[in-house]
Amino acid sequence: MEKRIFLSPPHMSGKEQLYIHEAFETNWIAPLGPNVDAFEKDIIAYTGSKGALALSSGTAAIHLALRLLGITKGDRVFCSSLTFIASANPVLYEGADLVFIDSEPRTWNMSPVALEKALLAAEEEGKLPKAVIVVNLYGQSADMDPISKLCQKYDVPLIEDAAESLGAKYKGQSSGTFGNYGIFSFNGNKIITTSGGGMLVSDDLEGLGQARFLATQARDNALHYQHSQMGFNYRMSNILAGVGRAQLEALDERVKTRRAIFEYYKAELSHFDGIDFMEEPEGYYSTRWLSVLTIDPQLYNITPHQIVEKLNTKNIETRPVWKPLHMQPLFEGLPFYKENDDFDFSKHVFERGLCLPSGSSLTKTEQDYVIEALSDLLIKHKN
Ligand SMILES: *Cc1c(COP(=O)(O)O)cnc(C)c1O
Repeated sequence: MEKRIFLSPPHMSGKEQLYIHEAFETNWIAPLGPNVDAFEKDIIAYTGSKGALALSSGTAAIHLALRLLGITKGDRVFCSSLTFIASANPVLYEGADLVFIDSEPRTWNMSPVALEKALLAAEEEGKLPKAVIVVNLYGQSADMDPISKLCQKYDVPLIEDAAESLGAKYKGQSSGTFGNYGIFSFNGNKIITTSGGGMLVSDDLEGLGQARFLATQARDNALHYQHSQMGFNYRMSNILAGVGRAQLEALDERVKTRRAIFEYYKAELSHFDGIDFMEEPEGYYSTRWLSVLTIDPQLYNITPHQIVEKLNTKNIETRPVWKPLHMQPLFEGLPFYKENDDFDFSKHVFERGLCLPSGSSLTKTEQDYVIEALSDLLIKHKN
């Protein structure tokens, strides 16, 4: 392949320029402006959330959710372990203590069993978490019913990190709308992008108003730039929101394409023994943001890391599964709760998982090329 095949590159619809042009015509480059307001309205309409706040990143959205919940030094926050670092970094910004929760094999997301264990232990210690951050991995929702129920039972607020799952559904309801706060990311590799950006959604409009205030340097209502609280510079620019508006119009199409890409990989590769694809349980609708499979190390003498390197020489970008947070040097020694003491599912998937090129602009020819290159390796390295 002459052209490199990327894991998940941006895919413009062509309509982005219209909204950008509009911003230029009216010289509404910044700050905020009509594209930002419209993009927030569009997200509200799409997800069914009552309110939305456009921000500079998904990380900023998580950070603001933590601020709204009053999380501070010494507080405890539970977080999915099998995720990207950004789910947990904002907890460190506030000096709070992280406890990691393992995933379940069925959804690859937070195990309600492990969550309950952690909550019971925390209750016994007399120190329940101030928030649970649940992640929807690779476009698939976590099992929100039991997770929400547990959070209600223990009266712990829930933050839904839906950075990878905009467009997904769980029992018919939009991903991102299950917790007290939900967050989306429009980073360059996500299913839709503003080049960089994020969104905080909630039904708590008062909370969102407070977040809006905090995200614009916490400026008091005075002409002379008066501040009584510490704030942040976290809002989205009017140009980028224009990109987001056009991207959102294409989202359903993008989801369909990514799902078709996943199905094609599955059809072409699952005849290999020991190759399994991330499942989609009944009642779930995943965006298949990334197509992920696992490789049984008993059957193949090649690791996902080695495959990534080999495919790289063929101009194909693939990736191992996220390194679980409880295995990160940054979080060494922090508590971690599993379903069964003798089985670490996040680690299991990390050692076996491979993410394939999944961008919605991937052509059939490119996908065939990936399938052929991977098939060659699997045949060559079968035990
Ligand atoms: C991308 C991502 C984020 C962070 O989003 P940014 O917009 O890059 O800050 C958070 N959580 C998960 C699970 C992500 O994949």
